[in-house]
Amino acid sequence: MSSIKVLTVLGTGVLGSQIAFQAAFHGFAVTAYDVDEDALAKARDRFTRLAGVYRAQVAGATGGKTEAALANLRLTADLGDAVVDADLVIEAVPELLELKRDVYRKLAELAPAKAIFATNSSTLLPSDLKDFTGRPDRFLALHYANNIWAQNIAEVMGTAETDPAVFAAVVDFARNSGLEPIEIRKEKAGYVLNSLLVPLLNAAAGLLLQGVADPHTIDKTWRIATGAPTGPFQIYDVVGLTTAYNIASSSPDAGSQAFAQYLKEHYIDQGKLGVASGEGFYKY
Ligand code: NAD
Repeated sequence: MSSIKVLTVLGTGVLGSQIAFQAAFHGFAVTAYDVDEDALAKARDRFTRLAGVYRAQVAGATGGKTEAALANLRLTADLGDAVVDADLVIEAVPELLELKRDVYRKLAELAPAKAIFATNSSTLLPSDLKDFTGRPDRFLALHYANNIWAQNIAEVMGTAETDPAVFAAVVDFARNSGLEPIEIRKEKAGYVLNSLLVPLLNAAAGLLLQGVADPHTIDKTWRIATGAPTGPFQIYDVVGLTTAYNIASSSPDAGSQAFAQYLKEHYIDQGKLGVASGEGFYKY
């Protein structure tokens, strides 16, 4: 089923801009919506930067393909105009439950009946939002990983009410826009990826704080014994230590709190934020 041709992306931040650009790069007509002209100006900068990243890193991104992607992108701060002809609306607005619910309330009124809605939320379940969409049978989660041109999985996860034909159409869209669709059969916080990754990262933090081994030894163990290219502290550096701190400090768990404090004292307060700042657990 290739029923999805016209895409709207809500929110043009870190992930929304990548989702919009990736689909435009694969030939979809994309409208990107954000709240005001300031946000749209930032979106334009993000798209220009992404065009450079694709030219440098994505196979086949030559011969005018990134210029064609830019031409497939339309920006607007008018929600009604953004969704007027959408087959699929991907929501990538901030991870705040009430804000997202409010966006779906408005969307339910403005979008055509044919439109499928998908949330890119990392931590909310689609069940938390479905009752605000006005179309729970045409709603599901489509969850991308950061740097989607390289880490190109798209986790597709419905609720008990999602129409199987809608699920299949979104799986198809993911594949047609250059992603590897990961079909998730049952709602699960953390999807597949974070259900695997978060326990690994937490265990590594525990080994460090308990004085069992240092980060380099822990990473080396993981790399050599499993054949994985990177260990957990290398992954922390890629994610960014500020994000790791925010997640750990908002957990009620005492071990997570201790790790947050450790990150703050030893790294963040010294400007060591991971790969982005040139140093974290490793130097870059
Ligand atoms: P971000 O803060 O970078 O971007 C959010 C964007 O939404 C901003 O451009 C903001 O102006 C816009 N916005 C604010 N209110 C809005 C509204 N009412 N309507 C439309 N747009 C609005 O956030 P992000 O990191 O791109 O995250 C967005 C979503 O993607 C979240 O649900 C997050 O869980 C998910 N996600 C993030 C990552 C990641 O690595 N950053 C990975 C996977 C999924």
